Amino acid sequence: MNWYEMTVADVVQNTKTDPSSGLSTFEVNKRRKKYGLNEMKERERPSAIQLFIRQFKDFMVLVLLAATLISGLLGEYMDAIAIMAIVFLNGILGFIQENRAEKSLEALKELSAPHVTVLREGEWMKIPSKELVIGDIVKITNGDRIAADLRIIKANSLEIEESALTGESIPVLKTSDRIEQKNIGIGDQTNMAFMGTVVTRGSGVGIVVQTGMKTAMGQIANLIQTAETLATPLQRKLEQLGKILILVALLLTILVVVIGVLQGHQVYQMFLAGVSLAVAAIPEGLPAIVTVALSLGVQRMIKKKAIVRKLPAVETLGCASVICSDKTGTMTQNKMTVTHIWVGGKTWQVSGTGYEPHGEFTDGYKQVNPHEIKSLKQILTFSMLASNAEIKEKDGRYILDGDPTEGALMTAGRKAGFTKSSLLKQFQIQKEFPFDSTRKMMSVVVKDRNGKHYVITKGAPDLLLNNCQSVLWNEKQVPLSPSFKQNIHQAIDGLASKALRTIAIAFKPITNENVSTLSAFEAESNLTFIGLAGMIDPPRPEVKQAIKECHDAGIKTVMITGDHVITAEAIAKELKILPENGKIIDGQTLSQLSIEELEDMIDHIYVFARVSPEDKLKIVKAFQNRGHVVAMTGDGVNDAPAIKASDIGISMGMTGTDVAKEASSLILVDDNFATIQAAIKEGRNIYENIRKFIRYLLASNVGEILVMLFAMILALPLPLVPIQILWVNLVTDGLPAMALGLDPPEGNVMKQKPRNPQEGVFARKLGWKILSRGFLIGVMTLLAFIILYQRDPENLVYAQTAAFSTLVLSQLILVFDCRSETSIFDRNPFENVYLMLAVLSSLLLMLAVIYYPPLQPIFHTVPIQLRDWLLIGTLSAIPTFLLAGSFITRKANENML
Ligand code: ATP
Repeated sequence: MNWYEMTVADVVQNTKTDPSSGLSTFEVNKRRKKYGLNEMKERERPSAIQLFIRQFKDFMVLVLLAATLISGLLGEYMDAIAIMAIVFLNGILGFIQENRAEKSLEALKELSAPHVTVLREGEWMKIPSKELVIGDIVKITNGDRIAADLRIIKANSLEIEESALTGESIPVLKTSDRIEQKNIGIGDQTNMAFMGTVVTRGSGVGIVVQTGMKTAMGQIANLIQTAETLATPLQRKLEQLGKILILVALLLTILVVVIGVLQGHQVYQMFLAGVSLAVAAIPEGLPAIVTVALSLGVQRMIKKKAIVRKLPAVETLGCASVICSDKTGTMTQNKMTVTHIWVGGKTWQVSGTGYEPHGEFTDGYKQVNPHEIKSLKQILTFSMLASNAEIKEKDGRYILDGDPTEGALMTAGRKAGFTKSSLLKQFQIQKEFPFDSTRKMMSVVVKDRNGKHYVITKGAPDLLLNNCQSVLWNEKQVPLSPSFKQNIHQAIDGLASKALRTIAIAFKPITNENVSTLSAFEAESNLTFIGLAGMIDPPRPEVKQAIKECHDAGIKTVMITGDHVITAEAIAKELKILPENGKIIDGQTLSQLSIEELEDMIDHIYVFARVSPEDKLKIVKAFQNRGHVVAMTGDGVNDAPAIKASDIGISMGMTGTDVAKEASSLILVDDNFATIQAAIKEGRNIYENIRKFIRYLLASNVGEILVMLFAMILALPLPLVPIQILWVNLVTDGLPAMALGLDPPEGNVMKQKPRNPQEGVFARKLGWKILSRGFLIGVMTLLAFIILYQRDPENLVYAQTAAFSTLVLSQLILVFDCRSETSIFDRNPFENVYLMLAVLSSLLLMLAVIYYPPLQPIFHTVPIQLRDWLLIGTLSAIPTFLLAGSFITRKANENML
């Protein structure tokens, strides 16, 4: 028998579970052992050994191996062994980098893995979806992606969109009723919820009946292997650039070899020199280092509570020029407290903070007893009946489970001494029309002890007022005349101007027969207005500073909220989002504007109020059409299209739905606006660090090629032997470049305008910096060689060792230059400990190669005399001073102009 054909009792019996307390831990463990984890089988990941072997498939490494073979065949065993050792070390380094990148990407996936709410041992708890077992009782709500196949046992206006399985994008209304037909398709199984489908409305409870590869989705899973890691724009650009660089390096190498042979050098020597030079000069490792730098940055972001779901976002973050952020919960704390209640023309104040049920009601001067004021009592009890939030006491603290707006209303009621459980003895809840951000209201249908039915609606006051025909005034129901309407509008504006979020309560009696067929539209019309509640939601303390820093960094912050215009304005002013001439527009005005009209004025708009999630898409498009790079936050199902369309989609880790998270490229673990600013800062830094090591690596490579090329043109002997070139490529280029990836940001990263996303790899004079520096390093290395070779032409090895030392030293100085876009003297070298360590170990290794006798024959070196270090040191430092000098004169000239 199929699950959908069974009654709920049969399903419970067949899955051996208990809907009131769930499974026990013992039972869960037993079932997990039997059925395994609730996950899709993934493609095999390369093992560590495969990863290691892969390092040797690289074209350059193969060339080196061939060179080793040739050296071996020619009897040059020392060269052969040294090259082998270096190839091996290179392999290990590549392996470490790739393994690290792979691991951190894996860890990222874990972090953004979905969770479910499940009942176990009598308690509702959140667990990773993959831990579900058959028989688990699962709660599902609007925005969830279903984590396993469920048989629904409770449904509350539950609608599920099943296009992932059926291709049908219209959501299906689900119930818990048994279906009698046999052999029906997935689309008709209205009491089942299938893994991978999405709840678009309402809520429900289900029993897990199938997990992992056995679910309906599991059966077709082979078709949908997801989690591709996308290449970032920079990685793609570098890949293209890499091809050009390989060609240029190869051509230059061939030139060096040809000239060398023509000048009478040994063919074997020139062959080895050529191979080494090609290996050294071709920046084949660049893309890998970029990946490592990106993933290291991603790990730093995790520490700052931002989880990157898509790697390209790291780069785009640095280009963001507009952040469109939700107000409630992101800019504010989402800890609501009712402070004012307005009923029938009178305002009552409520004291107390948070969800503690302690506080007093006053008329502004003296304390009042809410039980003695009928209208106050009515609004308090009705708003409790229409709220689902629960407040639990734990160790003297009051913890909210549910929506903060409803939590605030519950707390206000409890301050007056009402409890939901005692109210439920007088009123039975028959039906609920859940809240959604488009209607901005919700309703319940209740039955009192006399069998009479009422609709109670609560929602955004200005909208709810339009659905009312009468109002309770002095405890009497009177028609809602224009003057009453105006009176109520004044009350709404009065509360909103105090930065309070406002909620209105209305009601109407209905006949018993209507209840089952009642629609939300029918329920929420012809109502009687009762009154208003105003609640504070204080801004998060760190947000004001974050907004200022964004402003300084040329990034505009825009507030998008479903709240009242005046509430939004008050908070925007407090947070300094709204400048003097800044504009606010509301959802209604927005809907009347064409996209072109919006584009024309959007640069002046700072707040969008009373908008629906659907409006966000229009806002994103308008900003993008104006050439902005837009970051957009969101948490609900309806936010997903805008999140997807934006350049950086951001979702909320705590309150976000699965659907919003999946659409986003960045998740804020703490839902906090300040985290966006921190992530942007990190994003800018990562990009700058990548520029730093591109600059370092390429300038070094240019230097290496030029010293050889110039020497061949001048008919000199080889200034560097092949093994020395390989050594420089591995040790001197490798370690410091990696440490540059960990460099802390320059002080001015958040003082500059956002980067242009179209910017090329060599933008902002990077190309010039690389060429000029490479040229100078080449010339200085050659000078060291020439000076010492002329002093003692018999001792070629000594001159070569000096050239080697100059090359290494000038690169180790260059690495500090690369840390700054302006000048080496703008930065404290001790800030980056890793770089210090890398440089120090490169230096020590260089000294070992020169002074440690067993290494001397391998690297063709001899000890350098102390006095010659002065020459080597000076030549190595000259490029820095020459270029710093030219920078300073240029700056001075600019200042004079
Ligand atoms: P933001 O976009 O800043 O996060 P928001 O998400 O709070 O704003 P909505 O949740 O769409 O915006 O709320 C819009 C309005 O709907 C609120 O101003 C309030 O009047 C009303 N409202 C919010 N929550 C509820 C609720 N649970 N029941 C009834 N009305 C509500």
